[in-house]
Amino acid sequence: MQESQARELAAELDRRDQIGWLRERFVVESDGPIYLDGNSLGRLPLRSLARLDQVLRAEWGGGLVGSWDGWIDLPSRVGDELGQHLLGAGPGQVLVADSTTVNLFKLASSALDARPGRSTIVSDRGNFPTDRYLLEGLAKQRGLRLDLVDFPEVEGPSPDLVAKVLSDDTALLALSHVDYRSGALADMTGINRVAHSSGALVLWDLCHSVGAVPIELDSSGADLAAGCTYKYLNAGPGSPAFLYARADLQASLRQPIWGWFGQTDQFAMSQGYQPVAGLGRFQSGSPNVIGIALVDEGVRLLAEAGIQAVREKSLALTSLLIELHDAWLANLGFELMSPRDPRLRGSQVTLRHPDAYRVCRAMIADARVIADFRAPDRLRLGCAAPTTSFGEVCEAVIRIRQLVQSGRHLAEAAQPSRST
Ligand SMILES: *Cc1c(COP(=O)(O)O)cnc(C)c1O
Repeated sequence: MQESQARELAAELDRRDQIGWLRERFVVESDGPIYLDGNSLGRLPLRSLARLDQVLRAEWGGGLVGSWDGWIDLPSRVGDELGQHLLGAGPGQVLVADSTTVNLFKLASSALDARPGRSTIVSDRGNFPTDRYLLEGLAKQRGLRLDLVDFPEVEGPSPDLVAKVLSDDTALLALSHVDYRSGALADMTGINRVAHSSGALVLWDLCHSVGAVPIELDSSGADLAAGCTYKYLNAGPGSPAFLYARADLQASLRQPIWGWFGQTDQFAMSQGYQPVAGLGRFQSGSPNVIGIALVDEGVRLLAEAGIQAVREKSLALTSLLIELHDAWLANLGFELMSPRDPRLRGSQVTLRHPDAYRVCRAMIADARVIADFRAPDRLRLGCAAPTTSFGEVCEAVIRIRQLVQSGRHLAEAAQPSRST
């Protein structure tokens, strides 16, 4: 394919883009870099600026402590919105709170308590580090076994493969819905089914799927889930995460951080912890009001566009990227490490290259294309549909091709630093 042909194709796709208007709702500098890292930190919605001003100036500055009347329900109110529009979860099952790491810990701990007599936790050896570490910690504290399974990296865990590694000793299965390395999308319904047939509970990490792919927690029979809001939900660095616990499980779950925000009749200040009946028991301390307001804005934007439209564009973006990879990058030492089948793919394309780190650094410094590197040799190209155009995807691949053809990346240091 000629570069001019590809540019024309991309321009045509941009003209037909049903959610092209959405990009204008974000801070995008006209002379800024091409940003293919929305899967790490989403862009800033313009409305978040006004909302911040309102929360800080009017609500905090003006309303002072009285504003808690409107703030106190934010975790469940925004949780319900998130559940309805992006998670396929009915009300009363989603809470915005804490970080993903803390939520996964709370949920995993409560799940283990709910399966007494079973002594094994199963996860994926390729799972995101924080997930593995917190499970490792829980297993150590409780004298349980953690089985880390080597599922295929590009395709991820399938129901059949999962069925083989579960037993009647499995208390908890913890997996990522979309693999952070390859972008592989797991069959949530199928995996829930095989896990339930062995009596285990399932905990899903939704960090790389929420806001990028439609999720149906209720109808897929999911038990527990958590995810972050600073990636595809665009709520800002360190924004509060969310957790989901299925309604009929809630009464049987006790999370480990007993705090006053989960207490029945919180302001009675009474003796003895007595958790509230519903999901509120998963709250511990004061909610991050400012952060949750920004989650609210992120969710509203995606709800306005509709997650199906976001998904369609995302698949078209990643398909274009893969097509251009095949045409121009495969013969330069790159190898596709994401599923070719769009049904099995999240919203990113991962490429392997022996000089991936240097390519990534040179892309940022020389080519003004921001992507991220994952050890040992992976380049992740995130295609956040609300803020990425087809033209940008095309231009990014052209620049990567030119960069590697010219050998300019070889001038970069070969050592990774801490913050990519
Ligand atoms: C980004 C990400 C996290 C981040 O957890 P934090 O507690 O927000 O640092 C966890 N799991 C996965 C799969 C992620 O992609």
